[in-house]
Amino acid sequence: MKFILDYMKRYKIQCLIGPLFKVFEVVFELLVPMIIANIIDKGILKDDTSYIKHSVLLLILFSIIGFSCTLLAQYMSAYSAINICSDIREDTFGKVLKYKTLDIDRLGTSRLLTTLTSDINQIQTGINLALRLLLRSPFVVLGAVFMAFLYSPKISLLYVAVVVILSLIIGMNFKRSIPAFKKVRNELDQVVTETDDGLTGVRVIRGFVQTENETKVFKEHTDRLNKFQKISAKITTVLNPLTFLTINLFICLLIYSGAVEVQVGALTSGAVVALYNYMNQILVELIKFTNLIIQISRALACANRVQSVAEKKFDPDIEAKISEDSLITLKGVSFSYNGDDNYALKDIDLSLKKGESLGIIGKTGSGKSTLGAIIARAYDPTSGEISCSDGSFPTIGYTMQKTRLFSGTVEYNVRLDREGISSDDVSNALKISCADDFATPEKELTESGKNLSGGQRQRLNIARSLASSPDILILDDATASLDAITENKLIDNISKLDMARVIISQKIKSVKNCDKIIVLDDGVIVDSGDHESLLSTSSIYKEMYILQTKEANT
Ligand code: ADP
Ligand code: MG
Repeated sequence: MKFILDYMKRYKIQCLIGPLFKVFEVVFELLVPMIIANIIDKGILKDDTSYIKHSVLLLILFSIIGFSCTLLAQYMSAYSAINICSDIREDTFGKVLKYKTLDIDRLGTSRLLTTLTSDINQIQTGINLALRLLLRSPFVVLGAVFMAFLYSPKISLLYVAVVVILSLIIGMNFKRSIPAFKKVRNELDQVVTETDDGLTGVRVIRGFVQTENETKVFKEHTDRLNKFQKISAKITTVLNPLTFLTINLFICLLIYSGAVEVQVGALTSGAVVALYNYMNQILVELIKFTNLIIQISRALACANRVQSVAEKKFDPDIEAKISEDSLITLKGVSFSYNGDDNYALKDIDLSLKKGESLGIIGKTGSGKSTLGAIIARAYDPTSGEISCSDGSFPTIGYTMQKTRLFSGTVEYNVRLDREGISSDDVSNALKISCADDFATPEKELTESGKNLSGGQRQRLNIARSLASSPDILILDDATASLDAITENKLIDNISKLDMARVIISQKIKSVKNCDKIIVLDDGVIVDSGDHESLLSTSSIYKEMYILQTKEANT
C-alpha cells in the first residue's frame, strides 16, 4: 500500500483533482431526483407549465456541469494511473537489471515477466478506478441516505438497513475472493513459464515429436488456471444477483410504506418518486463499489508482488582482499545454488596471474561453468575468500556457455554501448574470434541472432568479450559448436593474446596449451598442472585424453 502511495505522491495534484471533481459530480446527481419530485408535485400536479420548463432547463444545466466535472475527473484519474504505473514499471525494470544472476535464477524470468507486465496493468486499473470511485461511491450512498432523511426520517431507516445488509454481503464475498485471486495469479505464472519454454524451445519440441505431449502439459496448466478463474468468478457472480434481490425487496417495502404515507398526507407522490430514485442510486453505486473493492484487492495483491521485486534487498557485495602477486586468487571457495548443503563447488583454491592462461576441464556437471561464473563475479561464493592484486576486482570479458545476442547490427552486439570501445576494437575482436568471414560490423541480426548458426553466434559472443580488452578473458565452452578448423584457428588466436585467460572446456584440445590446467570432478579440484604433467599424474585427465584422441583418429 505504502509502495503505491509513494508513487502517487509524485502526481499529488492530479490524484486530488480526480476524486474531488467526482464529488462535485455527485452533488449534481443527488439534486436531480429532488428537481424531478418538484416537477411532479409543483408542475405536473398543479398544471404549471412554466415551472416545468424552468425545471427542465435547470436539469439540462446540471447535466452539463456534471458532465464537465466527470470529464475532468476521468481524465485526471487516467492520467495519474498511467503515469504512476509507467514510473513503477521503469523503476522496477531498472532494479531487475541490477539483480544478481543468482536472484534472477531463483525468482525465475516468468515471474519477473508477469510482474513487469500484467501485475502492473492490474495496479493501473486499480488506481484508475480507486481515484474515480473510492470517494464518489460512499458519498453517493451517504448523500442518498441523507436526502431520504430530508423527505422522511422514518423511511430513511429502510435506507440505513439496506446499506448495512449490502455491506455485509459485499464484505463476506470479499473475504472469499481474495485468496481465490491469489491462486489465479500463481497459476498464471505457471502458464507463462510453459508458454515461454514452449516458444523458445519450439524447434526441439518439433524435432523430438513432442508437440502433442507439450500441448497436453500446457492444457493441464490452462485447465487449472481455468478452474481457479471459474472459482474466483463464481464467488463474484453470486454477488450481483444477491445485491439486486436485496435492493428490490427494499424497493417493494419502500413503495408500500411510501403509498401509506401519501395516503395519510405525510408525503407527496413526487417525494416517493425521489425516494425510489435515491434507492436506485444506492444500488448502482454499491455495485460499482463492489467491483472497485475487487479491483483494489487485485491491485494490492499485484502491488505486493511488484514491491517484492522492486524492493528486494541484496546481500552486500563481497569485497576483494588484497593479494600481492596475482590478478585474482580464490581461497577455500564453496558455492551452493540454493544456499543448502548441496554444493556445486567445494573448497576451491586457485590463482591467476597477469597474462597467464588457466584451463578448466571436467565432465558435464562437474562445476566448470559455476567456477567460471564465480571468477566472472556473476555469483558470489557461499563461503571462502576472493583476493585481487590491488584490492579491486579485475575487468572481465565473459563468454557464457549460453550465448545471448540482440536484434541490431553486429557492431552494436559486440560493443553494447560500452564506452571506450572504438570501431577498430570491434573489427579487431571480430578478427580474433574468427567472425570476420561472415560478419561485417554493419550486418543486421534478427531477434536473438536467429539468422546465424550456433557457431557463428558463439564467435560473436567471444568478440564481445574481447572488444574491451579486459584483464581476464573467460571462455566457457565457447568453441563447442565450431568446426575443427575454425576452432584450431580461434584457440591459436586466443593463445597469442596477452590478457589472462580462463578456458573452460570438456576438450583436452582446447586447454592443453594453457600454462596451468585444473581438473574438476563433482565440484572439487582433483588434479592440477600443465598438460604434460597431468598426463602422468591425473587418471581422469589421461582417460579423457585417450578417449578424445581415439575419437579424433576414428
Ligand atoms: P559444468 O559446467 O561442469 O557442466 P555446472 O557448473 O553448470 O557444470 O553445474 C554444476 C552443478 O550445479 C550441476 O550439478 C548442476 O546441476 C548445478 N547447477 C548449475 N546451474 C544451476 C542453477 N542455475 N541452479 C541450480 N543448480 C545449478
Ligand atoms: Mg558448463
